[in-house]
Amino acid sequence: MGKTKVTKKRSVKRKMRVFKKPNLSSGWKCPICKTDEEKEVVLIGITGTRMGYNIEAEQVHLGCLDLLFDKQRGLIYQKIGWGE
Ligand SMILES: [Zn+2]
Repeated sequence: MGKTKVTKKRSVKRKMRVFKKPNLSSGWKCPICKTDEEKEVVLIGITGTRMGYNIEAEQVHLGCLDLLFDKQRGLIYQKIGWGE
C-alpha cells in the first residue's frame, strides 16, 4: 500500500528525503490529498514500524504538509482525514 522500506544508517546524517516524484508502484496515493500527482514527495517514517535502523515509511507530497508543533508533547504532526 505505497509503503517503502527505508534503511537508516548510524553514520548518515538525518535529513528529510525529498524526491522529485513519487514511486507509483503498488497504487500509491498521497494520504493527505488522496491523489497520485507527480509532485515532490518526502518519506515519513511510520510509528511502530522501527526495527533497528529500519523503519517503514510513507510517501507524502511535500506540498501537502502543513505541520504543527506540539511543544508540550514534543511532537511535530499533522492530522489527516483517514477513512473519509
Ligand atoms: Zn498530496
